[in-house]
Amino acid sequence: MRFDESVDGADRKRIAKALDDIEEHGDRFHRRLSRFVRASELNIRVGPAKSVGGSGSVRLESQWGARRAVSSGELKMFDAASCVRLSIARETIDTGGQRGIEGTLVHEGKHAVDFSMMLASFSSGNGNGYFNPTAYQREYSAHLTSAFYLRLRGGEYAEEGIALGLLLVREGELSVNCEGIRLRLQRNYGLTAEAPGRTLDHCSYPRIRPSEEMWFGIL
Ligand SMILES: [Zn+2]
Repeated sequence: MRFDESVDGADRKRIAKALDDIEEHGDRFHRRLSRFVRASELNIRVGPAKSVGGSGSVRLESQWGARRAVSSGELKMFDAASCVRLSIARETIDTGGQRGIEGTLVHEGKHAVDFSMMLASFSSGNGNGYFNPTAYQREYSAHLTSAFYLRLRGGEYAEEGIALGLLLVREGELSVNCEGIRLRLQRNYGLTAEAPGRTLDHCSYPRIRPSEEMWFGIL
């Protein structure tokens, strides 16, 4: 990861600690996610929730840079992370503490993986289907990633998961609440399977296109 200058020393330590904890307490996917964030050149920023657009968000670092990287035709997922920016809200760190940072990194980290995968897929894909999930698919999978993490983490993490509708206790056992997640996506994002929102290639304007259709990212 590459910290923007907006991230001070104390926050860098908190974020590194959260990635350690995700690696220690998460499942195989969470561990891979944590290592991907840490080892790649993913850009990390901290800013007010107002400009971040919530507790955290993921977008392209530069639309032009991403399109140019895709047009090379050989962009790998790991390298594509340098075109992606993961932002954490100041408020998430100040009021949510380590739990807030972990939760945001797990959820937004999944989005960052999706962005990187999409860019690599459009760069070197052969036209037989690109990785290009809809907003509904992206939010559903990010919420699932969080739900599995909160369940494994237990304690107050699990309680938060229940309060958010990501987890539920069924027959005395803590389970992922798929119905609760779908409800949350509908209420908070207006997304359903029938109204799934835009595909990820629309994260850039003009949108990301397969490398063979682009010429140095210009077209
Ligand atoms: Zn999300």
